[in-house]
Amino acid sequence: MASGNAIRGTRVGSGPMRWSERGDQAARQTVAYWCANGHVTEPSFAAEVQPPEVWDCPRCGQPAGPNRAAPPQPARAEPYKTHLAYVKERRSDADGEAILAEALARLHQRRN
Ligand SMILES: [Zn+2]
Repeated sequence: MASGNAIRGTRVGSGPMRWSERGDQAARQTVAYWCANGHVTEPSFAAEVQPPEVWDCPRCGQPAGPNRAAPPQPARAEPYKTHLAYVKERRSDADGEAILAEALARLHQRRN
C-alpha cells in the first residue's frame, strides 16, 4: 500500500538510526528510477557502487531507468500500442506492396 513512503522513511542516512552511529555508517547514494508508467522509486546504494542502469519498478514490475524523459521500454508492449501497430500495418499494406515492387525493380536494374 504505502510501500513508496516506507522506502522513503527508512532511507539510510536521513533518519535517526542508532546503529549507524556506531561507526558502521557507510556513505550512500540515492538514485531515482522512473518506469514507463510514471512511477518513481528511489533505491539507495553504497556510494562506491555503480548503480544499475535498470531497476524493476516495485509498483508495476516494469523496468525503470534514471532518465525520467526516456524510461526503458516495458517488457511487454501495451495492448493499445500493439493494436495501433496492427492497424498501421493493415492500412499501409497496399503502399507497402507498391514500395516493395519499386525496390525490387530498382534492384534488378542495378544488377543488370
Ligand atoms: Zn511502475
